[in-house]
Amino acid sequence: MDSSYFNQFAPIAAIATQPQAAQVFASLAQNPEIQLWLPASMEQQGSSRHYDNSLREHLGSIWKENQSFVFCLAAGAVVRLIAPLLENKAEDPAVVIVDPKGDYVVSLCSGHQGKADLLAQVIASQIGATPIITGASQSLSLPAIDTFGFTYGWRKGEGNWTGAMAAVAKQEVIQVIQEAGSTLWQEHLPPGHSFYFGFPDSQAEINPQARIWISPTKRKIAPKSDFPKVQWHPRVLWIGIGCERNTSRELIETAIDETCKTYHLATEAIAGIASIDLKADEAGIIEVSQRRNLAFKTFTAEQLNQVDVPTPSEVVKQEVGTSSVAEAAAILAGENLLVSKQIFKSGNHLGAVTVAIAQADTEYIERAGKLYLVGIGPGNLDQITPSAQTAITEADVVIGYSLYINLIESLKRPGQIVEPSPITQEQQRAIRAIELAQWGLTVAVVSSGDCGIYGMAGLVLEELQAAGWNGKIPQVQIFPGISALQSAASRVGAPLMHDFCAVSLSDLLTPWEMIRQRLAAAASGDFITALYNPRSQTRTQQIIAAKEIFAQYRSPDTPVAIVRGAYRENEQVTLTTLEKMLDHPIDMLTTVIIGNTSTRNYANWMITPRGYLGFSQTEDRS
Ligand code: SAH
Repeated sequence: MDSSYFNQFAPIAAIATQPQAAQVFASLAQNPEIQLWLPASMEQQGSSRHYDNSLREHLGSIWKENQSFVFCLAAGAVVRLIAPLLENKAEDPAVVIVDPKGDYVVSLCSGHQGKADLLAQVIASQIGATPIITGASQSLSLPAIDTFGFTYGWRKGEGNWTGAMAAVAKQEVIQVIQEAGSTLWQEHLPPGHSFYFGFPDSQAEINPQARIWISPTKRKIAPKSDFPKVQWHPRVLWIGIGCERNTSRELIETAIDETCKTYHLATEAIAGIASIDLKADEAGIIEVSQRRNLAFKTFTAEQLNQVDVPTPSEVVKQEVGTSSVAEAAAILAGENLLVSKQIFKSGNHLGAVTVAIAQADTEYIERAGKLYLVGIGPGNLDQITPSAQTAITEADVVIGYSLYINLIESLKRPGQIVEPSPITQEQQRAIRAIELAQWGLTVAVVSSGDCGIYGMAGLVLEELQAAGWNGKIPQVQIFPGISALQSAASRVGAPLMHDFCAVSLSDLLTPWEMIRQRLAAAASGDFITALYNPRSQTRTQQIIAAKEIFAQYRSPDTPVAIVRGAYRENEQVTLTTLEKMLDHPIDMLTTVIIGNTSTRNYANWMITPRGYLGFSQTEDRS
């Protein structure tokens, strides 16, 4: 099991007090992020640790050091145990309960900020349980307004979050004024949502009960404001900095903070610092960027000198070879200059600083993006591996052909961006996924069957390669699925018991002559052959040619399976022979399996013997 799912919730304490409960945690506790705690009286299990005081005392001692708690205990007991430890939802850990049979996973506490809702979903898909999430935004299928911005790297600002959340729960109209940052989330709200965008004109019969500002501007919110207001700050501000050697960290911070204050900008909206490459080792700047988790970009004098700036300086040009550092660097990093050069000197601190601020069109996301290439199997949800389900649930964005997206509708999580696309646009889909992952999002690209068998995995990796990918960022993880040849085979018996191959009859990306040669090779090599993409509305001749090629090598009564929409609604399974295969409907949702010379039909089952010898040895029946 890949442990990276649990990183964002770690460290996690899993607590069980009964052997049956400990059993429920057995597979989960194999993840290094999860520490299993058992009472001293219970046997060691894996890397479990044991407490010999009361659970109440023990919990008190590990409460602060864990980000998440998972209990396998009665809900009532958990509520009593944690009640004295809870402080507020900004600081409390995520608390999740699993029932002792492992059927349900309840998100109990800190659902949004503590990510208990997501943790419950991830655990549920790992152990095959049903997640129970009772938060209002979940039931209304809305993004959680107090956390959704984290996806885009936004930082939370001041405001009455509790009041605003209550307004969402009451399904009141929430006014959204978005002045910066991605609007992707707006395009993926459920129908009938209660957000209102912008300021209603006087005629509009709109009466918002809360307001969300999404902006680099810091607004003062009066404590007695008529309704709850909150603010998110997308990280769009780039601070251009020029300074004398050895300028103190304090002076640089003062310069940034004062400038932001003067221009009503939120320091939370700062993406990073930009300067000249001579300053790449300037201790004060490095310290500020580390303390505040800011990006730090530098440019050469030559790059900076090409930028048009409002306040060029001849003196600076003489010194470093560009007539502007702060303004030019801010513009190169952020594009739109908001605040031109401000100069700070201080009697108390060493050096002098110039500061300029630019605003970027796209917000900066600090974390590195990920691409999950996911095979979802033939169609039915229970044919998807738990790992693949988790990947889909965890992703910020899910991209795929609309038919497949519909098949996994129930895995969708509120606030998730789901981008269906037409079947033909595979390359655009790959490029889009890469673009979002390079920006910093976790993107799941879904394929039917296996993603690496005539699926999206190859396309995405090819496009990454074309884009000069370093093999690491964005991180790629591949989740295999049950391919059509396996699902089709399982519907008719065991046709693939001996050496087999797959041939796609689509000549969209492969010349027909090559396909023809492969068919002949497969037929003459006596491979059982699964034909993918056998016939489309316009491509009708290939399946006829394929049949003729096989007829040269195999007898007319060779068993053939025609399976359409395996494991989907309206599944059709036909067992026939090579001679008669074209009498049956075959289309793009069909896989055709042609047996080898020893494949037999028996009581409506298609069976290929394990060997050619007429018998199979018992020890070779794996
Ligand atoms: N990645 C997929 C294949 C995609 S190519 C996989 O591994 O299965 C598309 C072809 O797959 C279709 O033309 C059809 O031949 C086959 N296919 C996909 N899903 C199928 C299903 N549920 N039943 C039968 N064939 C299917």
